[in-house]
Amino acid sequence: MMIEIRKITGNTVILNSSKNSDTQIMNAETSLQPIIYTRSEHSISRTQINENALKVLYRLEKSGFDAYLVGGCVRDLLLGREPKDFDVATNASPEEVKQVFRNCRLIGKRFRLAHVYFGREIIEVATFRGASNESCEHQKTHEDGRLLRDNIYGTLEEDVWRRDFTVNALYYTVRNFSVIDYVNGMKDHQQGILRLIGDPEIRYREDPVRMLRAIRFAVKLGFNINAECEQPLHDLAPLLLAIPSARLYDETLKLFLSGYALQSFEMLRHYGLFAILFPQTEHILASESHDFPRIFLIKALENSDKRVALGKSITPYFLLSAFLWEAVQIKVKKKLEQGENTYFALQHAANDVLKLQVKSTAIPKRVTQSMREVWTLQVRFEQRSRSKVYRLLNHPRFRAAYDFLVLRAETGGADSELAHWWTMFQEVEQEQQDKMLSEINKGGRKYRRKPSKTSVNSS
Ligand code: ATP
Ligand code: MG
Repeated sequence: MMIEIRKITGNTVILNSSKNSDTQIMNAETSLQPIIYTRSEHSISRTQINENALKVLYRLEKSGFDAYLVGGCVRDLLLGREPKDFDVATNASPEEVKQVFRNCRLIGKRFRLAHVYFGREIIEVATFRGASNESCEHQKTHEDGRLLRDNIYGTLEEDVWRRDFTVNALYYTVRNFSVIDYVNGMKDHQQGILRLIGDPEIRYREDPVRMLRAIRFAVKLGFNINAECEQPLHDLAPLLLAIPSARLYDETLKLFLSGYALQSFEMLRHYGLFAILFPQTEHILASESHDFPRIFLIKALENSDKRVALGKSITPYFLLSAFLWEAVQIKVKKKLEQGENTYFALQHAANDVLKLQVKSTAIPKRVTQSMREVWTLQVRFEQRSRSKVYRLLNHPRFRAAYDFLVLRAETGGADSELAHWWTMFQEVEQEQQDKMLSEINKGGRKYRRKPSKTSVNSS
């Protein structure tokens, strides 16, 4: 039987009302009781839970603390999916957690977290966070509403309101295997609704990254963003400009490398969020008269999702190279017109495009280096003297660059005969390779490259 004790006292408090933020809800000293779903009322079984996460929960409970699984793992377990990670929330302070576990390290300055190590696996244990309170020295808000600092500890009841979506605020306990729900998260979960806790606009302003998280979860879970949370997205997208580019890069990776890249792309564009992450790309997509760049990107995104579905590895630099390829091409064309040679035109175009891009998403150096390689190798596919062909084949970035060439060819951006030649060359025996090389180098018509629309040195 479901235990439902929902009591609202003091000021009338309505969740998701347009005027009351979670902060105000807490400050109104309301006693909002949770709905408790007992073991028979939810689908989470201990066999689905990571054994190390269970150890952490049991050990903390045994030491006299409260400990819960919370966030994405509870949400995913309820869907019968394997969670990416298992996060634990507790009333033990980080120092107390450290005393309970020898294999524990405390991390983070702003808000200390405990990492409990089991070999290479880490279970993150966070102490409940306290309620927002403007006058509190631990709480700091920017004039645009962004939370700059919030590092006070609190109770489970307070921790709930710090979380973003109702489906991310469900707490599972091994004490009686129940799920504790203060925000109607279970109901939203069952109905496939993604709903921010509290007033959507205030919550987006507090942390604009929640807009990207809304897209990510909607796509990944197949949930609908509820109307009040969806509506502000168009207008508030520019708030993301205030977020450090390193954080936006991390979010970008989560959006595009998790197997839902194409849907994320479409949705981000729809809400004007893609323009913040990739302004140069959006400018091209919005202004080009032909559909070629979009088709190329869609194909790249589709391929990437297929690879994830097959359990194959994907690298950030491949998709990022695809996102910015057209921008590089346009710059190359200009530089060639200004008299630069192909090599320098490409190098300088890559510099210009990357310099602008890292302002939005701080792509690390090692990744931009690989992106440059993928781009510059595109020209080298056209040079097919014996020595150059073998040198290219041995290049560490050959495989990615070749896949990129195929992608271009498939979408009309590169000579398909050229791509085919390279495909064949990798498949045949040495003897056949020799034949292919001598044929191409004596100027055999069969493999000669046709000028293509977008080849970097075609203009
Ligand atoms: P996944 O790990 O599958 O990407 P998740 O929901 O676990 O999804 P995390 O980034 O791991 O996402 O965060 C764990 C939990 O912390 C979330 O479920 C949410 O409750 C809370 N949280 C994370 N980021 C925010 C945020 N920006 N604002 C409010 N709460 C957040
Ligand atoms: Mg998580």
